[in-house]
Amino acid sequence: MSDQSSAMQGKILVIDDDPIITETIEILFDSDVTVLSTDNGRDGIALAAEEKPDLILLDVKMPDMDGYETCSELRLNPDIADIPIIFLTIKNESTDEATGLELGAIDYIAKPIVPQIIKARVKNHLTQKRQRDELENLSTIDALTGIANRRRLDEYLDTEWRRATRNKYSLSILMIDIDYFKSYNDNYGHQKGNDCLRAVAEAVSLAPRRPSDLVARYGGEEFCIVLPDTELASATEIAERVRQNVAGLEQENSGSPEYGIVTVSVGVATATPSSDDFNFDTLLELADKQLYQAKESGRNQISS
Ligand code: GH3
Ligand code: MG
Ligand code: MG
Repeated sequence: MSDQSSAMQGKILVIDDDPIITETIEILFDSDVTVLSTDNGRDGIALAAEEKPDLILLDVKMPDMDGYETCSELRLNPDIADIPIIFLTIKNESTDEATGLELGAIDYIAKPIVPQIIKARVKNHLTQKRQRDELENLSTIDALTGIANRRRLDEYLDTEWRRATRNKYSLSILMIDIDYFKSYNDNYGHQKGNDCLRAVAEAVSLAPRRPSDLVARYGGEEFCIVLPDTELASATEIAERVRQNVAGLEQENSGSPEYGIVTVSVGVATATPSSDDFNFDTLLELADKQLYQAKESGRNQISS
């Protein structure tokens, strides 16, 4: 490999019941691009979860599980939900491009496939994916919601833990988890799920008020707020504001049997760091336990 930056590298997964398509694509790339393939959606989903390809080429018309169904299911697993998908469709077939785009497809390629076109498009998307990944590796911002990401959270917690240890003041954290969010995705689709995550992130961000408070996306549909120099009582007030702000969005969630709207549960934990035997992971665990408690007690509530 002479030029790392321009060489096409990556792993693609082809899901198509037509062996001519999978074989054509398999021989199209040299060894820098790994091509995995399967003839059905079910195995495709399993392969994607196992292999985490950079790109998925997905046939729309397949027996049993079609491409749209496969796509929807891929989107349910947060580990693989963001893998870009290109749909393969028969030209002039009355496929609903809007459906695919709604589901988050980034491109359509018409059959009969032209190998050079497939190669060029795949190359473009792999390059873009690599650039996104590189940016994400440098970034401290969560791309979907625009708030701090997990890396920033870990760094900040580490710094603030040390500061609290030195100054002997309390450090509180809030763990926030959206209630019945799996149902939300199932009922309204992954895109709407993402819109909802953005709205919740904003509502959550409005609850704390000091510049030293950090709101971060912890992962999936979970958020975390770090509150330096904050006692349990104040942290609990902020947690309640988080809960109210989110409920105040009045965003319908028919999958929530009790409330019918999007709500969050919040776990609160406070520590006064003193020695090494109690670190910020322990604090996160404590907040997580409280969160579990809030869920058990009926959701849309805080526990401290
Ligand atoms: P609970 O009230 O107990 O928290 O139930 P839940 O359904 O929210 O919990 P669960 O952990 O089972 O589901 C979380 C769901 O969040 C799974 C996944 O579909 C969704 N999710 C996670 N990350 C993302 C994302 O980035 N975008 C979208 N749209 N959905 C996501
Ligand atoms: Mg969760
Ligand atoms: Mg949840």
